[in-house]
Amino acid sequence: MDIAVVGGGIAGCSAALHAAEAGARVALVEGQSIGWGASGRNAGHLPAATKHEPEEVVRLYGETFGPRIVEASENGPRTVAAIAERYGIECELAFPGIITAAHTPRALEGLKHRVEYWQKRERPLELLDRATLTAMLGSGFYLGGSIDRRGGSINPLAYVRGLARAAIERGARIHENSPARALHRDGTKWLVETGAGAIRADNVLLCTNAYTDELWPGLRRTVIPVRTVQFTTKPLSDNLLKTILPGRQPMIDTRRVLISVRIHQDGRLHFGCGPSMRAGSAPTWQVARARLLEVFPQLGDVEFDDWWPGWMAFNKADSWQMHTLAPGLFAALGCNGRGVALATIYGRDLARHATGTPASDLTLPMTPLDPVGLHALSGVGAAAIAQWWRIRDAVEMRGLKAQN
Ligand SMILES: Cc1cc2nc3c(=O)[nH]c(=O)nc-3n(C[C@H](O)[C@H](O)[C@H](O)COP(=O)(O)OP(=O)(O)OC[C@H]3O[C@@H](n4cnc5c(N)ncnc54)[C@H](O)[C@@H]3O)c2cc1C
Repeated sequence: MDIAVVGGGIAGCSAALHAAEAGARVALVEGQSIGWGASGRNAGHLPAATKHEPEEVVRLYGETFGPRIVEASENGPRTVAAIAERYGIECELAFPGIITAAHTPRALEGLKHRVEYWQKRERPLELLDRATLTAMLGSGFYLGGSIDRRGGSINPLAYVRGLARAAIERGARIHENSPARALHRDGTKWLVETGAGAIRADNVLLCTNAYTDELWPGLRRTVIPVRTVQFTTKPLSDNLLKTILPGRQPMIDTRRVLISVRIHQDGRLHFGCGPSMRAGSAPTWQVARARLLEVFPQLGDVEFDDWWPGWMAFNKADSWQMHTLAPGLFAALGCNGRGVALATIYGRDLARHATGTPASDLTLPMTPLDPVGLHALSGVGAAAIAQWWRIRDAVEMRGLKAQN
């Protein structure tokens, strides 16, 4: 069995590794370098959940697949840890839990519902009152929050490179700087053509997510790439490190245009400050600084040392999708900002399917392509929605300040 994988992110590398483990002859082509896409650029939070609450997952995916997805997502951090251990991948895994901070009473109610759902099932989630959250966060900005002790953090670039190395050790061939330019049938096989050569394969797995191009007709139109920007500061002083997230949990908040914060092992603060649609624009240091200081005023004149953009794939279902595009041609994409663990799992699923597991036994159902209408305008639409969300967040926050 010959399998070609297109895309060298977590999904593609997981697919390559698991297909090679199953005895397939695997070749992966990546247009840039391993982890160059979202997999090497993300915030490194490792949540035990999809973006949706469990009931919503079941509503979206039905009674067969919904519970499987909830279970796979819950086990996501453990799956990543097991893979890292098995293949000796050093990727700074830590499991101090993940904090979610609520910006409105309604958002706090939502967290309460989540915590109750999981506490009933004896999972380690807790609601945090304002005083407790303030101490855990080093900020009194929020009304309260929750901690999910199943989650943690990871160095995602080290992880994806480790997956690729493990795949190579099991016989997979990995070609960087090799964008797949054409894909078509050649007798009973598929032919994946790059500028430098071609790969013949029985099955092809497309793992290109928000970076999906025109390789397969219609696939790109199923995703709306949304650009977000990440910043890191210079290492914080010991005093700041004692007050800001002293338990080293990564945190996100409940705003529509949310922020994410994590302290790296070397003391740098990693800050994700929401969508920014202007590709190629200079880092908006002032905006990032203002958003960061609003929550952590003690950071004062903190110096940033790096920034980078990354594209997330949104779609109509607002979550991961898996497709059979033609016999022997499969895709998994639609990461929606939750993908370190899920890309691992869905990449593994693609490999399992390509090596014989029936679609009915996978975690995600195989669904038809669901293109976004007026896709050419989706970038403009996403920017407008992000702006509308910002305004709504600001109005809600003003209401909150007025109450305090
Ligand atoms: C800024 C940011 C922060 C995030 N934070 C988190 C987080 O904290 N926690 C979390 O769980 N998830 C997070 N995510 C989501 C997570 O990073 C993604 O879900 C996951 O990395 C997707 O992996 P992937 O392999 O599907 O896609 P990618 O990693 O994007 O890989 C796709 C690859 O395909 C390649 N490619 C595209 N077309 C071709 C072609 N024709 N030929 C060859 N190669 C091609 C690209 O070069 C790219 O490397 C974040 C995402 C972003 C952008």
